[in-house]
Amino acid sequence: MSIVILGVFAADCAFRGQRLPSMGETVLGEGFALGPGGKGSNQAVAASRAGGDVHFVTRLGRDIFADMARDVWGQAGVTPHVTEDADSYTGAAFIYVNADSGDNAIIVAPGAGGQLSPADIDAHAALIGGAAVFVTQLEQPMEAAHRALQLARDGGARTILNPAPAAEIPDAMLALCDVITPNESEAEILTGIAVASVDDAKRAADALLDRGVGAAIITLGENGALYRDRDTTLHVAAIRAGAVVETTGAGDAFNGGFAAALARGDSPADAVRFGNATAALSVTRAGAAASMPDGHEIVALLS
Ligand code: ATP
Repeated sequence: MSIVILGVFAADCAFRGQRLPSMGETVLGEGFALGPGGKGSNQAVAASRAGGDVHFVTRLGRDIFADMARDVWGQAGVTPHVTEDADSYTGAAFIYVNADSGDNAIIVAPGAGGQLSPADIDAHAALIGGAAVFVTQLEQPMEAAHRALQLARDGGARTILNPAPAAEIPDAMLALCDVITPNESEAEILTGIAVASVDDAKRAADALLDRGVGAAIITLGENGALYRDRDTTLHVAAIRAGAVVETTGAGDAFNGGFAAALARGDSPADAVRFGNATAALSVTRAGAAASMPDGHEIVALLS
């Protein structure tokens, strides 16, 4: 059963240093790492490695980062559906990491992916309409996400919206979501309810159900995740699968694992447990796409 994911790829260019330069100044850095990123692409890699048959819809430039994207998807077994844009560039992120504190400052230029349009979505209407599970985020324009959710809903897919980065979302679009998966701060921006506990997460989930989603999963970092629909409430505690190395991409791992489990027929509750285990393994490894576990590891952690 196929999983179709719409989203953006961005090449993460991470520089370590003592401080950001002032305007007009050059400073020497202490390290550099280049890695694949973009929430949609990371989720596609996670879902494929977890065992899903994954198709990724996006837009790329014609440049070296587009080659990088195709390599990453090829290694993970993701089938790409790419609109090539000769007039733009593939998404890229400049990430400054303070060498002492680990804090970061980021500029993301989504490039071609940021220009995904409803017409691009319509070009993949049969694919999206035929999906068992459809997933998107908000790194591409809202209108493209909205159009794709509509096509997926019309075709009978289970629809998942990971509302990241946080944004206001029209009720008409929320009504197309079988599941919405905000983290704590995204849930607060969507509902006005600050989420600092599981009870807060239940209240935020109720506010999202009232706005028309079928179910809400609020991811709670090291406190796991809360699933709530009209009949069921489930809090899964985070699993400690080893020393925590880097939590970047934990949300993407969760979404990818959850989608893979739903697509093979798991109940939502079991899919939440599978997503939680996928993310638990990913935080024990460096990188985002590079940290996604494979299905056997996830099953072993849950048994
Ligand atoms: P990011 O933006 O870093 O990708 P996020 O803010 O979208 O993450 P979180 O809510 O922080 O998402 O985490 C997503 C999921 O990852 C959690 O629901 C949980 O399952 C898992 N997780 C996060 N942190 C940990 C941790 N320290 N140990 C185990 N699991 C974790």
